[in-house]
Amino acid sequence: MKSVLIGVGQAGGKLSRELVEFDERMGFGAVRGAVAVNTAQADLSSLPFETVLVGQDRVKGQGVGGDNELGAEVMQSDIREVLSALDGRIGAETESIFVVAGLGGGTGSGGAPVVAKELKRIYDVPVYGLGILPGRDEGSMYQVNAGRSLKTFAREADSLLLVDNDAFRSAGESVTEGFDSINREIAKRVGLLLAAGESVEGVAESVVDSSEIINTLRNGSIAALGYAAADAAPEAEENINAVMSTTRRALLTGSSLPDATDADAALVVVAGEQDAVPRKGVERARRWVEEETGSLQVRGGDFPLSSDRIAVLILLGGIERSERLDDFMQRAKEAQEQEATAEAKPDNPGDVWANDDLDNLL
Ligand code: GDP
Repeated sequence: MKSVLIGVGQAGGKLSRELVEFDERMGFGAVRGAVAVNTAQADLSSLPFETVLVGQDRVKGQGVGGDNELGAEVMQSDIREVLSALDGRIGAETESIFVVAGLGGGTGSGGAPVVAKELKRIYDVPVYGLGILPGRDEGSMYQVNAGRSLKTFAREADSLLLVDNDAFRSAGESVTEGFDSINREIAKRVGLLLAAGESVEGVAESVVDSSEIINTLRNGSIAALGYAAADAAPEAEENINAVMSTTRRALLTGSSLPDATDADAALVVVAGEQDAVPRKGVERARRWVEEETGSLQVRGGDFPLSSDRIAVLILLGGIERSERLDDFMQRAKEAQEQEATAEAKPDNPGDVWANDDLDNLL
């Protein structure tokens, strides 16, 4: 799926760079350009693509210091500059636009929903968010910012693909130490998904295409992406069990949003050497994902790739009712209220989602 990236804020820029580099290294050609936008000059200087500094009149290139309302305001004021940097990069071949940001900070948190909203007014292609949730041990400002941003970004984008910063952490590693490895994990998942929609090598019997990604994401406003890989035997028949166990790991331990398995739709992509991917295994994996997610809209397909491994990628669409998200929104709400004691959870998961306690940003 040919996509253009807009990285907003520090995390957005760094993750976009990781995505561009992964796509180049793998020779996929699915990432068709990237632009980074920030209020902090210093965070833009190391990025190898076009950058736009916004809010110069207000913050003089120094950043918004975690104030996401200011982040939203300056983005709105300077939106023309952002849109003109994108002009010419988004063309007839572009199939989707990704607005990439960390939701806990200021510029990305406030600015990304504004960018998504404006892009949707102009372009017909889907505008997706790729949003990073702060880890549990990040301070309350990050949780509140992310809660408000999440609510607004999910409303403005066609779908918001979420990554929890706690998802890929190794034991003993702080969130900050782990950023680079987290970014690599995210880039691998998203990069493979975009490339799967391109199907670059050979012609498989049931290759995935962009419309399947789009249709999966059409269901609901929040999405997640799971991944796992294992060594493969040369013959497809020998890999049925490997596909099944890799599928389980991709969903249960390899997701960008752990424990969010209740979904409205899903796409299961099995990547590997064409002769090594068992059709029966793909179908079995698809059915298992149907049971596990409770969705009857689970698509399955393969992604021919020269590798001695088999990888399984699971895109979940419409996961907003999951307990994991309720937990996060609850965390954000509690942080906002500055309460030490946890409040009772709503009886019906999903209610928190519709709460009025967290203000929309826009
Ligand atoms: P902004 O520049 O004001 O938008 O702020 P940041 O992009 O630094 O956003 C802060 C949030 O993003 C925090 O929750 C951080 O944990 C997270 N973050 C910052 N940099 C990275 C990164 O490189 N990778 C990941 N995964 N998260 C990051």
